Amino acid sequence: MKKTMLALAALPLLATTTPAHADDRLTGDALAAAADRALTDDTLAWDFVEGITTEVGPRQAGTEAEKRGRDWAVAWLRANGFANVADEPFQMETWVPGELHRAEIVSPFPQPLVIQPLGGSASTGPDGIVAEVVEFENVAALAAAPQGSLQGKIAYISHSMTPTQDGSQYGFAGPARWIGAGLAKSKGAIATVIKSVGTDYHRNPHVGGTTFRNPDGSSDVGRAVPTPAGALSLPDAANLERMFDRANGRPITMKLTLTPRNLGTTTSGNVVGEIVGRDPSLPPVLVACHIDSWWNAPGAFDDGAGCGIVAAAARNVGEAGQPLRTIRVLMAGAEEVGLFGSVAYSKAHIDEKIGVGLESDFGADRIWRFESNFRDTNPDLHARLAASIARFGVADSTIRASGGADINISRDQGGAIIDLQQDGTRYFDLHHTPDDTLDKIDPVQLRQNVAVWTQVVGILANEAEPIEGAPKID
Ligand code: ZN
Ligand code: ZN
Repeated sequence: MKKTMLALAALPLLATTTPAHADDRLTGDALAAAADRALTDDTLAWDFVEGITTEVGPRQAGTEAEKRGRDWAVAWLRANGFANVADEPFQMETWVPGELHRAEIVSPFPQPLVIQPLGGSASTGPDGIVAEVVEFENVAALAAAPQGSLQGKIAYISHSMTPTQDGSQYGFAGPARWIGAGLAKSKGAIATVIKSVGTDYHRNPHVGGTTFRNPDGSSDVGRAVPTPAGALSLPDAANLERMFDRANGRPITMKLTLTPRNLGTTTSGNVVGEIVGRDPSLPPVLVACHIDSWWNAPGAFDDGAGCGIVAAAARNVGEAGQPLRTIRVLMAGAEEVGLFGSVAYSKAHIDEKIGVGLESDFGADRIWRFESNFRDTNPDLHARLAASIARFGVADSTIRASGGADINISRDQGGAIIDLQQDGTRYFDLHHTPDDTLDKIDPVQLRQNVAVWTQVVGILANEAEPIEGAPKID
């Protein structure tokens, strides 16, 4: 942070000799040409995601692997011409998955099932626990179960999730993972297993974090001490559900062995870098992604691609000519495990006004919809941005942008936000699984992302008039 402030403080001399107006070459033909070139020729985003998935691989927040990922990103940003590159550290409580991840049906149909622990899960100890499993069709059914009714039992939570372009089914199925274990614990359950929140049919559990708060926030029950919690792969969950159908009322007993552990307080960090603008008095454009992944996933879609896209766009804009505003890249640490990096960044930089925030964190497939939160307050800018990317197949929208996880600072400041919505049809096939690998990225669609981002970030970074001014989001 200090480096950034010093660099910005050193620039006013330069700014006084530069007109405080956008350079037409950068908002017009030159920028459009840079975006068009990205569509056919960009290799930078691919270079980032190929590099980090190959040279680093999975990078669980707060661990040595994430540190290697941050070091790699710092070196990459410096090698690609970014200024004020830094790894801004913060402290966090770090959970790791441990070694033993087993679920076994003991009776009436003995066989192993494929399971992985959810982030935040407690350990069963190496000897595991054995208990009857109680089935719930979804979180609502679990919520309706009487208090104490799961005493000594393992809760199983299903749901139905289908692929959607806008990813909206995540909101429907996600609570099974986000709050299911805490809710089951509040009813007396000693452990929880869920059907993976995903849309593929491989024997790959989809991991992710769970919390032990009650959904209504009315009680601390379940918060203080987590229970063991794991996700079954979708085929294994389907198998378990068939067992319930065929058991004819006989209890289904599971042996569950999960051995995650807490490492205590460790260091994570936010990687930042800048394309420095000509006028440091104008608030910067913040483009964000996250550098960490779950331990089981090389994180190509989530979120190596996002970091490649935002960084490639920032550099493309810089290469078209020094922009008016600074473009700041934020590769947040520790997003997956609770948005710790985004929160730390906002806290550290809250007094530095951000002009507009954008994030890429929904894979690498094409952008299809443009949203802002200033359509009503700055209709001219909204319309110009929307019109500029129509040629890439992106539609305007009246939906109000709310921003991604890593631009908390824009929400905290009540600032301008843009969402460049990606096609999420395949996203939950790969999300938080070992299948989130480089080969799943379609280079043609990745380049379309870079083209759209280059065009949008280029217009924003050369906007002389205030971008800020959207009404504060509650
Ligand atoms: Zn992500
Ligand atoms: Zn994720």
